[in-house]
Amino acid sequence: MNPTAVIAIHGGAGTILRTLMDPNAEQRYHASLTDVLTAGQKVLATGGSALDAVSEAVRLLEDNPLFNAGRGAVFTADGTHELDASIMDGSTLEAGAICCVTRVRNPILVARRVLEASEHVMFTGAGAEAFAVAQGFEPVDSSYFHTDARHKQWLLVRGQQRVMLDHDGATFSAPSPGGDAEEPTPHEPIDPNRKFGTVGAVALDQHGHVAAATSTGGVTNKQAGRVGDAPLIGAGCYADDATCAVSTTGSGEMFMRMVAAYDVAAQMAYRGVSLEEAAGDVVMNRLPRINGRGGLIAVDALGNVTLPFNTEGMYRGFARVGVAPVTAIYR
Ligand code: ASP
Repeated sequence: MNPTAVIAIHGGAGTILRTLMDPNAEQRYHASLTDVLTAGQKVLATGGSALDAVSEAVRLLEDNPLFNAGRGAVFTADGTHELDASIMDGSTLEAGAICCVTRVRNPILVARRVLEASEHVMFTGAGAEAFAVAQGFEPVDSSYFHTDARHKQWLLVRGQQRVMLDHDGATFSAPSPGGDAEEPTPHEPIDPNRKFGTVGAVALDQHGHVAAATSTGGVTNKQAGRVGDAPLIGAGCYADDATCAVSTTGSGEMFMRMVAAYDVAAQMAYRGVSLEEAAGDVVMNRLPRINGRGGLIAVDALGNVTLPFNTEGMYRGFARVGVAPVTAIYR
């Protein structure tokens, strides 16, 4: 019997802001995760491919300003937005990725088009934008990505000349008067200044195929031109029916140095260990050796799902076809 189709998603990992926990914000995150999982579940229930399910889930996460991808992406040191995304099909090992784009509304859809329509795997900057336009994607004005909450967060981080990390969350604790209710506020469950808000999805479909997708605005106040793990096949995204599908979130530089997503698949293939053991080793043993913080989501062709992280929290969830979605934020 075929294992039940399943989808898992993440909306970034990070430090929990315990002192300022806001039940309403928490509720908004759970509701958003549930909606995305339900949409992915629907794709899988109607016989859709794992590739279709992860594309749709990540597209919805990109459109949601609560997460750092697409609308609501973080700011670079130049006050701009540079987006990265990647996608991989475990049944063919085909992949597509774009990075450093500034006018692509849904980077994951363009990455998917790279997978389907190009002989290349990855496009960057102006070339990626040109590819998107040639493929019929309407460019958006860069103001589309702007949210007041991310802008405030950037001004604070920039004032301290940091690249998002190790910022004192308490300085970001004042409520934003008149803030847009749809946007993240300083009361969100995970400290906005100590969070990696990348989004991702992995899925197994009814046909036994897996796929993975990852999309991000990167890290707040990053230097222009900086590229993280999210668009790199093997670092932030990997899928192979023979082993598993993986999407990561965290300190991208460390995930790149550990080739984190591929390492999960490689450990399963070469060490013969389970999905859970391989993913746990990468997140709990290997990444911490170089101070790598964050987590990943992974699924294998048997329908096993694992969502390990070494931070205090990770926005995450999974849904098997025919079963209510499960969402979680904390440990
Ligand atoms: N991994 C992403 C990057 O380094 C950040 C994140 O996960 O939010 O660009």
